[in-house]
Amino acid sequence: MANVAMAVSEIMPISLIFSFPEKKYAAIATATPSRAYLIRRVTISPISGIIDLGAGALESICLYSTNEEIMRITYHASIDPDVIKTYKLRNTDERQFDFYLMCYLNSPDGWSQDGYSFEQTEHGHVHIRLSSTATIDKACGFSGQKLSCAILGGTKMYLNAERWFHGAKASKLDLENYRQYMVSHEMGHILGKEHVKCPGKGSKAPIMLQHTLGIGECIPNTDVKG
Ligand SMILES: [Zn+2]
Repeated sequence: MANVAMAVSEIMPISLIFSFPEKKYAAIATATPSRAYLIRRVTISPISGIIDLGAGALESICLYSTNEEIMRITYHASIDPDVIKTYKLRNTDERQFDFYLMCYLNSPDGWSQDGYSFEQTEHGHVHIRLSSTATIDKACGFSGQKLSCAILGGTKMYLNAERWFHGAKASKLDLENYRQYMVSHEMGHILGKEHVKCPGKGSKAPIMLQHTLGIGECIPNTDVKG
């Protein structure tokens, strides 16, 4: 993230103004304690990321692709009760999870580059769950590797809570970038994409590589187009 200029208004909800020197699309989303929402679309460059303002858990913004919407995918998201209990999550944590999903799914580095847009609706087509390793192992036939999974071409996505909160060292990504990777990777499966290998030393790790298990000679990456 570079060249970010922002001004924070003194009235609530917090609004932020970005200034980028080039390119098109991307916009700003912000969140209040009650809900995450898109406040305005602006014309700025496709740089992805989330900025935490620090004052409150939900006062976050992200850049949001406004690419031509060729295919709109709706989803709904939930956090499993055992995860809420284990991590002592509050309602605001659930809203923040929603907000992050919205940001990662619509990131200019994400599948928007293939013309997809993602919208959270009450009965959205894809169900994204934040689940425990035990739940995921049972649903997806894994055994203890703390993986996430999604049904190829399907509508069910399980994000591993342990990875969501702690990341994966082998990915060489920091936590926020790892989260972006895991959401993009699993959505890739929903879009029918299968695993690939690292193409070679020094290449950016493809998003459909299993970063959680290590990226080999590839370099860390969160852009679905590499
Ligand atoms: Zn996978």
